Amino acid sequence: MTSALQKNRPDAAFSFDNSYVHLPQNFFSLQAPTQVAEPWLIKLNEPLAEELGLDLDILKRDGAAIFSGNLIPDGAEPLAMAYSGHQFGQFVPLLGDGRAILLGEVIDRNGERRDIQLKGAGQTPFSRRGDGRAALGPVLREYIVSEAMFALGIPATRALAAVLTGESVRREDILPGAVFTRVAASHIRVGTFQYLAATGDENGIKALADHVIERHYPALKAAENPYLALYEAVCDRQAALIARWLQVGFIHGVMNTDNMTISGETIDFGPCAFMDSYDPMTVFSSIDQHGRYAYANQPGIGQWNLARLGEALLPLIDTDKDKAIEHANAIIKAYGERFHSYWLQGMRGKIGLVSAEDGDLELIQALLALMQAQGADFTLTFRRLSAVAGDEAAEAVFASTFREPAATTEWLTRWRDRLSRNPQTPSDRAATMKQANPAFIPRNHRVEQAIEAAVEDGDFSLFEALLSVLSKPFEEQPPFAAYMDPPKPEERVLQTFCGT
Ligand code: AMP
Ligand code: MG
Repeated sequence: MTSALQKNRPDAAFSFDNSYVHLPQNFFSLQAPTQVAEPWLIKLNEPLAEELGLDLDILKRDGAAIFSGNLIPDGAEPLAMAYSGHQFGQFVPLLGDGRAILLGEVIDRNGERRDIQLKGAGQTPFSRRGDGRAALGPVLREYIVSEAMFALGIPATRALAAVLTGESVRREDILPGAVFTRVAASHIRVGTFQYLAATGDENGIKALADHVIERHYPALKAAENPYLALYEAVCDRQAALIARWLQVGFIHGVMNTDNMTISGETIDFGPCAFMDSYDPMTVFSSIDQHGRYAYANQPGIGQWNLARLGEALLPLIDTDKDKAIEHANAIIKAYGERFHSYWLQGMRGKIGLVSAEDGDLELIQALLALMQAQGADFTLTFRRLSAVAGDEAAEAVFASTFREPAATTEWLTRWRDRLSRNPQTPSDRAATMKQANPAFIPRNHRVEQAIEAAVEDGDFSLFEALLSVLSKPFEEQPPFAAYMDPPKPEERVLQTFCGT
């Protein structure tokens, strides 16, 4: 248990203030990490550590031991969370943290409660046949992509640290083992509610919902029906989140209900990837054989997952089941419109519109159709369009993004005509568009190159370089211009793997 006394201890790396461990005991299983052979600190995210109010001196000294699970910091109450989940549409009643261990929670410098979790820290009662471990490659991928999402302004769990364990893990190959330290607003998922619903634990559902409202949606305590308001608020955050994913070409890859947070943060970066050339049916994940989680399917899958959340919340929404269903249905239906309006608003921004007109949707769709037909790179198209907004001379570079540059002429004429009714000067417009259209995304081939150098040669320089470039995605960084480039044909990565 943490106490006021413990919080003031000068030699504690973390001032833990744990709450999840005080929820009913069936929500989790107390579980300490399993020791590793020879921990080595790959990376500590110092700015994040500062934001969390951690003691950097201690972390620099003991980081390898702490972030591998070998040294349990004072005040930690390690546990594995229980949850269910629909995996590719199939309900699995008991998943839970099979390789992740929550050390505890801290209150950050902004007063926000944040989870500190070790991923790959050894077996738990939820490991089923898994080894409880993580391989270096997926740890680096999660580090790079989650930090890139943060820099892009998209809600996501964060990377606090990565360590090598000095042990190997057996996947298809024998690989170096690693532990990832994840920071989240919380690790409560749609699947956490499903777990309690599946066991018929109505008191538990209420306790979890109350915890979530207190933690993530405190304003809703005053709502007429706080649980219905909670459902609506979660749907709203997810609609906004998925719209943001689409606007940067992000494909999550494994949107199972256990990988969808209640807080609205992106979680679980296993087989995720960013799209290069625009094709709405793009899939990278090797296990997504039917394209269930393809780029353009994500909003619909979000809605499907949220319908599962609605089912779990029904007993709280109304004691009359028919009424509860009616209320929940109205919200899940409205999700479609919410998503569309977030998406349209974001896309208007991407093409430089600060006003709204009826024809905007068509104009956006026409550009997307052209990009698809012409194999245009998603990120470059919008970034280069931002330059055209400020300087007509940039048009040739924009057009060169398309297989047949001349195919863009007609669309550009329509766009300019629309811009003539948009109240902004060209240079202001170019500047705002550049804030909506990143120059740098974690391109898959770059991520793979960084992972390969680390795994094959123990060389983390590409990983570090990529992290640095991606920390300022909207800024031109001339020395790193090559990081903007799409892959050459021989560099193209067609598949990503879950890493489990
Ligand atoms: P994920 O695909 O990462 O969302 O994981 C799905 C489920 O599999 C979760 O319950 C994980 O805890 C579990 N899992 C994934 N990898 C492992 C592993 N190496 N050992 C034990 N459990 C695992
Ligand atoms: Mg998961």
